[in-house]
Amino acid sequence: MAADGRPAVFPLPPGSTIGIVGGGQLGRMLAMAAARLGFRVAVLAREAESPAGQVSAVEIVGDYGDPAAVGRLAAQSDVLTFEFENVSAAALAAAEQAGAPIAPPGRALAVSQDRVEEKSALNAWGLATTPFAAIDGPEDIAPALRRLGAPALLKTRREGYDGKGQAWIGGAAEADAAFAAIGARPAILEAKAAFVRELSVIAARGRGGEVAAYPVGENRHEHGILRTTTAPARLSPALQADALRIATTLLEALDYVGVIGVELFELEDGRLLVNEFAPRVHNTGHWTLDGCEVDQFEQHIRAVAGWPLGPTAPLARVEMSNLLGDEANDWAVLAADPKARLWLYGKRDAAPGRKMGHVNRLSPLT
Ligand code: AMP
Repeated sequence: MAADGRPAVFPLPPGSTIGIVGGGQLGRMLAMAAARLGFRVAVLAREAESPAGQVSAVEIVGDYGDPAAVGRLAAQSDVLTFEFENVSAAALAAAEQAGAPIAPPGRALAVSQDRVEEKSALNAWGLATTPFAAIDGPEDIAPALRRLGAPALLKTRREGYDGKGQAWIGGAAEADAAFAAIGARPAILEAKAAFVRELSVIAARGRGGEVAAYPVGENRHEHGILRTTTAPARLSPALQADALRIATTLLEALDYVGVIGVELFELEDGRLLVNEFAPRVHNTGHWTLDGCEVDQFEQHIRAVAGWPLGPTAPLARVEMSNLLGDEANDWAVLAADPKARLWLYGKRDAAPGRKMGHVNRLSPLT
């Protein structure tokens, strides 16, 4: 609901307030895109002077799971969105009660929060995933391994990210140790996907149901953390079309509004499996900041505000490299490199593996 108490009418005019749950770098880049289109931004961040709070009109400090804090954000927002998907159902309900329309829809958040529900939903929508089993205790692992084969990957059902809460299991003898290693929590066991490449597709759906997808990116991870994305990936028109089909199926099944990131495994035989989806802008879409006329952040703001979606055609081939931990200390060297477009997130503590910024390097499309 707007500050004047009237319900939002789409398209939201410039001057409206976009509320963002989450104060990290994704929120920061969303806020900058929103400001460029004349919107005000209010963010809910865990601590003051957050990356997103530094560039927003209003920063509320509170927990994302706290219904009162989310309610306060919603009360002064014309639309509420997220840069972070692990928001509790209670917090979402509080936002709805405050009268702020939520985009993407709460159902997209709920499905993506639980890896078993997510993969079950994907399969129900006709999208292939690696075979999996729900694991409630270590005793479930041996029978699941017989069906899935070894090695298999044990992941927490909830709240895993950047490779955290995951353990490979080579055989049934390792079941107890692996279950303990992920914190003895409800889990999923996944068959090893024998992928040749990791790809992702970033796509958007507007309030009128229109869909726009960016070209597929190719991703390289180290220790479960994204290192680089190269986009557009070199891939056949058939694979590009298949990625678009997958993204469109998901967006329509979820009656989605906003940008979604879909992580894919490309198998040797050319099939694509969905690893997971993120109901938000995505690290593997940062290349669009310098590679497309309308980047993923502006696209998300356009979608949630009910504006027309922008063009997604690539202007260049981009290699995006994350700056992790103290790699961002090289900012002066990177700033002096005419080929490097530098994005820094305003984070003070460069803990090892922490995403501090990224660099986009452009080359001509060939
Ligand atoms: P996730 O947290 O699901 O995104 O997994 C992090 C990374 O682990 C992925 O980007 C892959 O490199 C790897 N990975 C995840 N699931 C599987 C799987 N079922 N088989 C093989 N590698 C996987």
